[in-house]
Order: sequence, then C-alpha cells, then structure tokens
Amino acid sequence: DRIISSEADTQDLSFEKSLRPIQLHEYIGQDKVKDNLKVFIEAAKFREEALDHVLLYGPPGLGKTTLATIIANEMGVNIRTTAGPAIERPGDLAAILTALEPGDVLFIDEIHRLPRAIEEVLYPAMEDYCLDIVIGKGPSARSVRLDLPPFTLVGATTRAGSVSAPLRDRFGVLSRLEYYEIEQLKDIVVRTADVLQIGMEELAAWEIARRSRGTPRIANRLLRRVRDFAQVKGDGMITKDLADNSLELLQVDRLGLDHIDHKLLLGMIHKFKGGPVGLETIAATIGEEAHTIEDVYEPYLLQIGFLQRTPRGRSVTHLVYDHLNIKPE
Ligand code: ADP
Repeated sequence: DRIISSEADTQDLSFEKSLRPIQLHEYIGQDKVKDNLKVFIEAAKFREEALDHVLLYGPPGLGKTTLATIIANEMGVNIRTTAGPAIERPGDLAAILTALEPGDVLFIDEIHRLPRAIEEVLYPAMEDYCLDIVIGKGPSARSVRLDLPPFTLVGATTRAGSVSAPLRDRFGVLSRLEYYEIEQLKDIVVRTADVLQIGMEELAAWEIARRSRGTPRIANRLLRRVRDFAQVKGDGMITKDLADNSLELLQVDRLGLDHIDHKLLLGMIHKFKGGPVGLETIAATIGEEAHTIEDVYEPYLLQIGFLQRTPRGRSVTHLVYDHLNIKPE
C-alpha cells in the first residue's frame, strides 16, 4: 500500500475517528463550504426544520465524512452512516429510513454507487419524506405510502459526474471540497499533534504538510509514521530534521511524490519523450490499470501541474524536469 494513498486503510480508520473535529469552527479550511453551511444550519435551526439535503463532492480524504458528522453535531441530531454499495435492496433503505428520528442526518458515502432501483426509492423520501412500498406480487400487488420523519440526507462522492441528474437535483446544497493549501495542512498537522500530545517543531509540521498532497488524511498518516521514527530513533520530539529524514526513508519526496509517481513520470520521459502518450500505453508501461492511473495517480499530478491532459494523451510539463533534475531533450 502506498503511504501517500488518499484512501483510508484499516489502520487509518480508528485513528481518524479520534481526530475528527466535532464542530464547524474546528474544521480547518474549506471556508466557502463552511460559510454556506453555517448559514443553512442556522436558518434550519431557527425554523426548527431539518436541514436541506447536502451533497459533498471531492477527492478521498478531504473531509467529507468529517463534515457530515459536524453537520449532525451542529444540528444537534443523530447521524446514521452507510455507503452506496452497502444498500442492495429497497428494503435495506426502507429499514434505515424508517428508523430515523425527526431531523436526523443520514450519511451515504459513495452515493454514486447506489443501485438505480434504490435511487428511485430515495426520490420521494428526499422530496416528500415518504416511501412508496410495493406489497405482494403479481395482480394482488399494491403500493403503500409510508410517512417518514423529516431528515437530512448528506451524500458524499468522489465522482460528481457519476451522480445521476435526478438524484443531484434533489439536493438543496451542493458543496465541492478543494485540495488544501499547505498552510491549512500545517494547521491540521499541528492540531493532530495537539490531540495526540505529540511534541513537534512548527517547521516539522510544515515539512509534513508540504508532502501531504493537499489531503488531510495523508497529512495525519505521515504524522503518525513520523511519530514512530521520533519514538524509536529519537526522544519522541518531532524536530524538522527528524521529519525530513523519516519522510526521506519513507520515500515521500518534497512534493509528496513516491516511487510510483517517479516511475510513471520517468517512464513517460524516457520512453515517450514526455508525451503526449495515451493512458492505456502509460498503464501498460508501468504495469498498472488505466483506471487506477486515472483515479489514483493522476489527480494530484494534474493538480500540481506536473501532467497535462491533451486530446492526444498525457504530457509531462517542464515542472517535472525541474523537480526530477532532468534536462529536457
Ligand atoms: P473523506 O470522507 O473525504 O474521505 P474524512 O472525513 O474521512 O475524508 O477525513 C480524513 C481525515 O482527515 C479525518 O481523520 C479527519 O479528521 C481529517 N480531516 C479532514 N478534513 C479536515 C479538516 N478540514 N480539519 C481537520 N481535520 C480534517
């Protein structure tokens, strides 16, 4: 597993739970999203209504689940969490919805992976807080309408484009999370170190932040690994040098690129003169699936301007030559 993967691994899960900010003001960055939500939450509380349905989209590890939890906390309601692939039959969704209390938040992660048949059950639930259930089969089948308590659906997705239009239209609030600035990631690292009571120099926090690929999940994971080094090789204090050296040993470079990123970029430079080269060809060269490159490796490289997408394929930019210290041909 790549240490700079933005997907949660099993170690991350329990660790992350203890680090989740509880309230909106503790949630660092994403100011536009926060400012909007603050207004909507206040207004809903003032009217004593459930908050409008919220769709959060953006790459993994940017804080969608965290934000869903914060919304429930700020509204003073319970949160029920599930994921698109976990809901297989309409009955599964009905069981969840009928167990909600008025105002509760239902969080559906990976909402783009909900089966179509389930989505259709969700429409009247979102619009009118009711469920249409078919009882029986064949000619004796009849439809019964069940009332639901008012609730807030918070959907999260890494692929806004894969959410069907009818579903997307039923969300009142659409919020896009952006990659974080290094300074915000530094604040997140400092906060995490505080929560975990780790001694750390501020410069070390910058060093970790710089290599975190704009992603809080990665920042927290790198901090955890660096802490291991501090405890084993040092006296527990994370100094800038210790952070530098441990990240070097973990093979995460100054921009958060690892050996696989290097392999991909070097492959493009040495075999294809830097491109343009088709995704499938790159995939075959480094022995990865094309969709893995597209979903996992490429977004950050595009974000930092290392790759460009052209109609004829991908090209590396001059930034790559500078970073890897290679002369362009
Ligand atoms: P997602 O659901 O988008 O994959 P998560 O909400 O699980 O991401 O966030 C991953 C980790 O990053 C969590 O441990 C969370 O505490 C931390 N995190 C995310 N966003 C923030 C933020 N804005 N401020 C502080 N910590 C954050």
